[in-house]
Amino acid sequence: MEQVLLVRYAEIHLKGLNRPYFERMLVDRMRDALRPIDAKIEREQGRVFVYGIPAEKISEASEKICGVFGVHSVSPTLCVEKSWDAIRNAAIELVAPDADKPTTFKCFAKRSDKRFPMTSEQICRELGHELLNAFPSLSVDVHHPVLKVTVEVRQQRAFVFTKEQRGVGGMPVGTNGKAMLLISGGIDSPVAGYMIAKRGVTLSAVHFYSYPYTSERARDKVVELTKIVAKFAGEIELYLVPFTEIQLAIYDQCPSSETTVLMRRLMMKIAERIAFNCRAQALITGEAIGQVASQTMDSLACTDDAVTLPVFRPLIGFDKEEIIERAQKIGTFETSIQPYEDCCTVFVPQHPVTRPKVEQLRASEALVDFEPMMERAIASAECLKISQFVLD
Ligand code: ATP
Ligand code: MG
Repeated sequence: MEQVLLVRYAEIHLKGLNRPYFERMLVDRMRDALRPIDAKIEREQGRVFVYGIPAEKISEASEKICGVFGVHSVSPTLCVEKSWDAIRNAAIELVAPDADKPTTFKCFAKRSDKRFPMTSEQICRELGHELLNAFPSLSVDVHHPVLKVTVEVRQQRAFVFTKEQRGVGGMPVGTNGKAMLLISGGIDSPVAGYMIAKRGVTLSAVHFYSYPYTSERARDKVVELTKIVAKFAGEIELYLVPFTEIQLAIYDQCPSSETTVLMRRLMMKIAERIAFNCRAQALITGEAIGQVASQTMDSLACTDDAVTLPVFRPLIGFDKEEIIERAQKIGTFETSIQPYEDCCTVFVPQHPVTRPKVEQLRASEALVDFEPMMERAIASAECLKISQFVLD
């Protein structure tokens, strides 16, 4: 009896004629997630089956597949030949560990191979009898069973399972274009990147650092955060851009109340240029309305004004607490709260404007010739390819 993972996918069902494309991408992403296990992954009638996983790795593999965007749920199954004896034996083997104490169950059956001699109803009825005979501690509950013993009789083989693990949902990465995440080392931006990747978008990322005002360890923190996001989002090109020159110029030559918003505008401009170069079609930030002075409606409008690409802010309506919850779930929170300084915190103005005007900011920006500085920053940017595999 081989253990096989049965994988259900969610929204891909809605994709009509493009469905084979989405399915193929999902299989590719599952293969990435399972590396280095060389599993055999097959699509069959709206399901994906994963064969060839060593028995001791089944639960780890199931866990990994659950984290692949596009996966609705995963069931570890026993895969058997299509005979009644084999199906019954598999069900008994699966139920045994749960039947050492009184518990309830119900049988479910699906027969896509209509040549199989028993109907779904017959399978359920017979299997119910067999399980009641084999395990005196079991009783049937058709409304709220603890154990759902399910049999699927397919074209080649039959599958028997009792468990269903919830997957992360979303769409397979690679099916919805590419976007550039501005990642800071704080709590919010990694979560924002995760959410957009979940919709099938490939990520690139850009981080601005200000040596010597920010440390090597602050940079390591960003690499580490990107690596965690890459567990879900696949390989991420991370651009590390020196920002000290621009930051000092803003600090020295522009109105101090406007420094944060001006800094944000220049970050966006540089991110947009890198995005153009690497064919990213949008920018992503971790901003939420009103979280800090630079995230009021007026400030956000001033930031948007600096670029032409769409700016995605998936956390826009979230409370900090909700963002923290998500960061904990994704696994970025502990790294995000390590106390290394960010370039934004080093140069915070004492009295930031909360209602900046676009015209005023454009004028302040024009006080300095930022163009050569931006070019220098981009020219000396470093690009790291971050993936969970390379750095593990
Ligand atoms: P985060 O928790 O992501 O740092 P935040 O609430 O602290 O967000 P800010 O520090 O004001 O907010 O930054 C707003 C957004 O600007 C961030 O979410 C991020 O997308 C971007 N950003 C800020 N600093 C940097 C940086 N050093 N490099 C790249 N992007 C940055
Ligand atoms: Mg921050």
